[in-house]
Amino acid sequence: MEYAKHERHIPVCLECGDKIRYGRTDKKFCCDECKTRHHNAMAKSGRAFRRRVLAILSKNYSVLEGLVRSGVESVDLMDLMSMGFLPSFSTSYRRNGKHDEYRCFDIKYIMTRTRIYSISKIQNFD
Ligand SMILES: [Zn+2]
Repeated sequence: MEYAKHERHIPVCLECGDKIRYGRTDKKFCCDECKTRHHNAMAKSGRAFRRRVLAILSKNYSVLEGLVRSGVESVDLMDLMSMGFLPSFSTSYRRNGKHDEYRCFDIKYIMTRTRIYSISKIQNFD
């Protein structure tokens, strides 16, 4: 009984789930191999996430660029979304007076609940 009670406080390896029976009590891994494997997996999922976000931003950019090229300055959000634009992804945001100004790389636009407008290319990086 005494042993089982003690057992509960033994930390387990974040990678393989084995109990960590030696070393400092704040150790997170049972061995260096598990530590390396865990960090590699985390880095890999981080890269996959970044790749996914960049793919979304690229798609948004090509939609916006098409609009700029054809001189469209205002579009209904629903129409945009049907073109594959995802409104919750942008590269920056700022409050510009009363407006919510977003950017997708060098294209800026103002977004409301229902539409985006004033779509234009940025000339200077500021
Ligand atoms: Zn382990």
